[in-house]
Amino acid sequence: MSNPSVDTVRKWIDAARRVVVLTGAGISTDSGIPDFRGPQGVWTKNPLAEKLSDIRYYVADGEVRKASWQSRLEHPAFMAQPNAGHLALVALERRGKLHALITQNIDGLHQRAGIASELVVEVHGNLHQAVCLSCGWKGPMQAVLDRVRAGEEDPACGECDGILKSDTISFGQALVPEVIDRAMRVAAECDLLLAVGSTLQVYPVAGAVPLAKEAGARVVIMNAQPTQFDDIADAVLRMHIGEALPYLCAG
Ligand SMILES: [Zn+2]
Repeated sequence: MSNPSVDTVRKWIDAARRVVVLTGAGISTDSGIPDFRGPQGVWTKNPLAEKLSDIRYYVADGEVRKASWQSRLEHPAFMAQPNAGHLALVALERRGKLHALITQNIDGLHQRAGIASELVVEVHGNLHQAVCLSCGWKGPMQAVLDRVRAGEEDPACGECDGILKSDTISFGQALVPEVIDRAMRVAAECDLLLAVGSTLQVYPVAGAVPLAKEAGARVVIMNAQPTQFDDIADAVLRMHIGEALPYLCAG
């Protein structure tokens, strides 16, 4: 059986009523945000960067935190703009078809593009928010970064003096069960699941793909490299996201 064409997939999306989109790093690379796990990824090229993202080193070592805050100051997500791929999904939302958008990205670019925040399920958190690891206080990241710029190397929580961090999931840190539950629930409710720019290697979120399939949804995978779920997908599209997604999602 041949792989359905992009025109066939476009018709499936036209016919779908509850689309769930799952996005990974591949949708943000056109916005200048490097893919951490891909062949050119930051972690692949610099294992030390992975150590900075490990909660155990972060909590135990003030020097790791200082280096992390310096690295956050320069994170490309703070300067990045949404690209054509992000905007295409806004078009899908405006057509009333977007049931939910599950993202592994922490860059906040879907919301910047205009997707309603309540539709976005951020399984790995959001870099634009800071959190206190002791009392759970949350607030805007930019205000904390301003303190770093003003000379505080390891800014502490204003409420309890605890350790602050970006509100993202580091290595060694538990996912938020309510968020994962919601991702799985919406995947089971959709009639078409579109996975974009994710290698689908990270669990439990990758499990949303077979879950949607078993629940009867069509599954479409658009990624530069093969994924473990290509075999169960109804279509696999190896196309440039910024070019193909606007075509697929436009009315
Ligand atoms: Zn606190």
